[in-house]
Amino acid sequence: MQTFDFDLFVIGGGSGGVRAARMSAQRGARVALAEVAAMGGTCVNVGCIPKKLYSYAAHYGDSFEESHGFGWVGEAPTFDWDLLKANRAREISRLNGVYVQLLTSAEVTIIEGWARLLDAHTVEVDGRRFTAKNVLVSTGGTPTVPAITGREHVVTSDQMFDLSPFPKRLLVVGGGYIACEFASIFNGLGSQVTQVHRRDKLLTGFDDDVRRFIAGEMSKTGINLQLGTHISAITKTDDGLQVEVKDSQDKPASFLVDSVLYATGRVPNASGIGLETVGVAVNRVGAIQVNAQYQTSVPSIYALGDVTARLQLTPVALGEAMVVVDHLFGPTDGKKPRGMSYDFVPTAVFTHPNIGTVGYSEADAREQFGAIRVYRTDFKALKHTLSGSTERTLMKLLVEDATDRVVGLHMVGPDAGEIVQGFAVAMKAGATKAVFDSTIGIHPTAAEEFVTMREPVKA
Ligand code: NDP
Repeated sequence: MQTFDFDLFVIGGGSGGVRAARMSAQRGARVALAEVAAMGGTCVNVGCIPKKLYSYAAHYGDSFEESHGFGWVGEAPTFDWDLLKANRAREISRLNGVYVQLLTSAEVTIIEGWARLLDAHTVEVDGRRFTAKNVLVSTGGTPTVPAITGREHVVTSDQMFDLSPFPKRLLVVGGGYIACEFASIFNGLGSQVTQVHRRDKLLTGFDDDVRRFIAGEMSKTGINLQLGTHISAITKTDDGLQVEVKDSQDKPASFLVDSVLYATGRVPNASGIGLETVGVAVNRVGAIQVNAQYQTSVPSIYALGDVTARLQLTPVALGEAMVVVDHLFGPTDGKKPRGMSYDFVPTAVFTHPNIGTVGYSEADAREQFGAIRVYRTDFKALKHTLSGSTERTLMKLLVEDATDRVVGLHMVGPDAGEIVQGFAVAMKAGATKAVFDSTIGIHPTAAEEFVTMREPVKA
């Protein structure tokens, strides 16, 4: 029988790779994990975690203003960008250490360097060769910037956290998660933000009411939203970057800014790791193709997370990792091996205000279920009766007529992610509108509106 150095060799120490390595080792497997950069991948280093920390920072700007209505008197403190960057860097390196610690205490062998597949069971890392019964590719993704004139002057989300100096004037290109989040964050931190998006609404794929509502709220916070607008060229001048744009009628305009962020999507990190050599099939966008157990076209090689370009979300990669672990090393406690469902995956966009959503958009629900009922409310939150803020909150429920099941739940408002997480459990469990109606609200909260919407606004 062939013997291998390891039972599992994981390439990439992001959320999914670390989870798979750690849990496999805890089930007695001999595991190695190769990582070329800081442990934790996009989420920990240049994604979810630093983004959320900066989002908290950005909210303070408003909070100081709003405190006056509650009796707090005096000038707001000034913002120190370098201090925020230093504090974030310290916390991220602490987390890098926690990830290393988790792996080493589970007895995973960490190998630093760039890993490349040589054959179905062999990986080379900087000249050293290792064999493994199975290999897991969890190399994540990278921001992509289209070919535009002046491309060399732009930055991506990878550079945003450490920009120097602070961009007093920022132009953000794109209308997805990253573009909207960074527009809100830098606006809150004090930049003058212009956001340019090629479509007439932000956040393609989200519910249309949410898309309209968030555009209104973001504009109210001071973001200059330019929808239906395309970038023609970016040139460097003595006064900053000159960005030429054209609107949907081909009318030109230009903006002078300090930085341009391109947030126009992410591509899988699937090159330079030997996939072609070994014959691992990728699709036309370069994502590794996998089956329900995350097995690639080469049976000993698995792949998960952003390199497979399904739902690019950390908790999804964690869920996928557990499917792989159960499949390779068996579930614990005699349970059935886990499967992964992509239905009713809740998600949040950390705009100001936040968006939280789970289930179908109204358009998708009509297509999927035919007859539906739509419940919707928007209101000024209690806090803003004294804060002076004009921010409003949107809540929307979509109910399948035939079964009374709640199939879509959407919110734009403070802490939407926190609120929607709990409702996602109810919706996974198949909660009907009758169950929502029989649930007692918590008063006074915004969340209670989800259980007190009685009359549909349309069918
Ligand atoms: P998205 O796919 O969400 O958005 C990309 C945006 O760029 C879209 O608005 C798209 O427009 C636009 N775009 C694409 N190509 C071009 C182009 N050539 N010229 C102009 N505009 C273009 O990608 P992101 O980069 O924002 O984020 C990647 C993924 O990361 C997200 O989909 C999400 O899964 C994940 N993520 C999750 C977060 C969270 O959970 N809070 C936070 C950040 C990221 P169009 O709509 O027309 O396609």
